[in-house]
Amino acid sequence: MLKIGCHLSSSNGFTHMLEEAKTIGANTFQFFTRNPRGGDAKDIDPIDIKNFLRFKDELGIDKIIAHASYTLNLCSKDQSIRDFALRTFKDDLKRMEYIKGNYYNFHPGSHVGQGEDVGIQFIIDALNDSLSEDQNTIVLLETMAGKGSEIGRNFEELKRIIDGVKLKDKIGVLLDTCHVHEGGYDIVNDLDGVLGTFDKIIGLDRLKAIHLNDSMNPRGAHKDRHAKIGEGHIGNEALIKVINNPHLKNLPFILETPNDLDGYAREIAFLKEHYED
Ligand code: FE
Ligand code: FE
Ligand code: ZN
Repeated sequence: MLKIGCHLSSSNGFTHMLEEAKTIGANTFQFFTRNPRGGDAKDIDPIDIKNFLRFKDELGIDKIIAHASYTLNLCSKDQSIRDFALRTFKDDLKRMEYIKGNYYNFHPGSHVGQGEDVGIQFIIDALNDSLSEDQNTIVLLETMAGKGSEIGRNFEELKRIIDGVKLKDKIGVLLDTCHVHEGGYDIVNDLDGVLGTFDKIIGLDRLKAIHLNDSMNPRGAHKDRHAKIGEGHIGNEALIKVINNPHLKNLPFILETPNDLDGYAREIAFLKEHYED
């Protein structure tokens, strides 16, 4: 069965996200751990967590994905920004233990002129400082479009981060179709080739989830502008091949397309219709 969902607002809690997922036909979802612009996370509501754990199976939910604030930058030039990011990262991981066994996805960061070697080392240090043997969450590095000085613009950079992480069984990769397309990978004409490259460099066993997005820009644009499914430069045909690819078809797919709930419901229905069980 296709595991499909979308990004949902977490401001009304887990139980509310479950209800929304149900109304749009989703069996997974993603949420921000806190306000996307950073800042404090809400207090954990034990009743909300209890309800979530109780009802998620009824919806056929296996894994959900928490997304770190996109302003979190573990490799900033500014030490106070790095320290804040690290504190936030650790706090998020602590909170994830309330819903054990899910994914926590983050943007590796932007090196802002320090160069990728320095940036990558900061990210490695932060991961080694925050990951613990007994955590039940897998942390995912997201493939990035390579906007500005983003780290993770290619598979090699993600591989270098993974190589430096000590607790390797706590780390995985999330592939964003818009980002890899804008990063220069030809998933439209050569998905198998791109996945072959991923396998050679990182290993497909590290790939845990997909952000399924179309892109407003041509391949290699490095701009990171998501489009609705079928309305961008990737297109329906290529995205349908993504959900049906034997290496990908059992992973959770999260839509981050510019949509309201009705739009997500339509995209989910469309993708289910084109999924080969
Ligand atoms: Fe992201
Ligand atoms: Fe994404
Ligand atoms: Zn994006």
